[in-house]
Amino acid sequence: MIAKEAEDQGWHLYIVGGAVRDLLLTNNNQKVSLQDIDLVVDGFHRSADVGAGVELASTIQKKYPNCRLSVHGEFQTAALLWHKDPEFGSLWIDIATSRTEFYPYPAANPEVESSSIRQDLYRRDFTINALAVRLTPPREGELLDFFGGLLDLKGKEVRVLHANSFIEDPTRIYRAVRFAVRLNFDIEPQTETYIRYAIESGIYDKLKLKNHVTPALTTRLKAESKYILEANYWKPALQLLSDLDSLKCLHNQVILDDKIWWQIRCASRWLRYLDPDNNIGHWLIRLEILISKINPQERKQLALNLHLPKDSLERIDKDNIIYSEIQELLLKCNKISDKYKQLYRNKLADLILVAVNSKKEVRRIIWQYLTQWSKIQAPLNGNDLKRMGYKPGPQYKLVLDRLLALTLDGEIKTQQEAAIIVK
Ligand code: ATP
Repeated sequence: MIAKEAEDQGWHLYIVGGAVRDLLLTNNNQKVSLQDIDLVVDGFHRSADVGAGVELASTIQKKYPNCRLSVHGEFQTAALLWHKDPEFGSLWIDIATSRTEFYPYPAANPEVESSSIRQDLYRRDFTINALAVRLTPPREGELLDFFGGLLDLKGKEVRVLHANSFIEDPTRIYRAVRFAVRLNFDIEPQTETYIRYAIESGIYDKLKLKNHVTPALTTRLKAESKYILEANYWKPALQLLSDLDSLKCLHNQVILDDKIWWQIRCASRWLRYLDPDNNIGHWLIRLEILISKINPQERKQLALNLHLPKDSLERIDKDNIIYSEIQELLLKCNKISDKYKQLYRNKLADLILVAVNSKKEVRRIIWQYLTQWSKIQAPLNGNDLKRMGYKPGPQYKLVLDRLLALTLDGEIKTQQEAAIIVK
């Protein structure tokens, strides 16, 4: 229907980017579900204020009022979102405009057309993402492959489109890694040379977040880091980022040494077990550990500029000294109830961070707290005390805390034993 609408306007419409790549990578008999589609419309549009993409998306939205329209970028891109629609499921369609000129009448000069979509594709990151399929006549269904993307899909290579690509946009390094690992492709050797050259020439200074000169770039860097750190392939991706020396893009003090690597993997194992629904955001903890060795002030600035959430900022703000303090206190405690008292005020994420920064003995205590002690309850609760005739008041907390401590230390087990203590 979008293609029909574009055709009626005399415009050309293409499906581009990831959807084409993924369709071409799929075997004929496999069903592909596309939920995120990028379209590019190419045509002289009638308004100087909005591009053809926005015009087209607005027309579609009027016909399908159950989809939501949002316009972003200056005036070139629109998005249509169908959220759990019975006809379309959940579907996100971005419609960009490949041409900036506007003209009062529709026109379809094929030469202008192909140069315009070619330019659009040339601005993209890799050959495998610079493929397009024409959706409007004539020759609808034709694959446009100006840069050898099909060959690279077959050869399983991530190849950049031009030498300066990573200098222009360092976040493409993270994208190269993401596609290479996710698709099980290699980064083509010349492309790897460009990456290394870009890093050596200090492009990461471009991302120097302190100066706030490139907020769009840092937003993209955060998005790409999140994408990688929350994917199920985060381990090989992080390793490859490190091998390419590109963790420097976050901050030039970030390195993945053996200790940090171990801490990230250990925290991830704990998180998988203790937070299976991923409420904390496991990728954030990985990122926090990754940047933990940066000096505190710069680390905080980095976190602020990456717009990390409040919980994360609070954790990052804590000095590493806190870890050794908790460690020392725990080692001094003999009774379980005393260890419990040192730990129960802390949130799960904090405790995991303390654990990976502590020696084995302490780690074991924290693990026992999280998996056993934190689940133990005293044999009596407030209602029981009330039923026993005690008037509610501040004493309740003292009594219940005492009962819990005795239970943790194994001195009482049953309600009867607890009742004797209360009396
Ligand atoms: P995924 O399946 O992971 O979403 P995708 O290819 O659709 O992959 P997007 O991040 O949604 O990735 O980007 C859509 C398209 O926009 C890409 O295929 C690519 O052509 C282009 N693109 C995205 N980011 C960049 C960038 N930093 N530089 C150049 N082109 C980009």
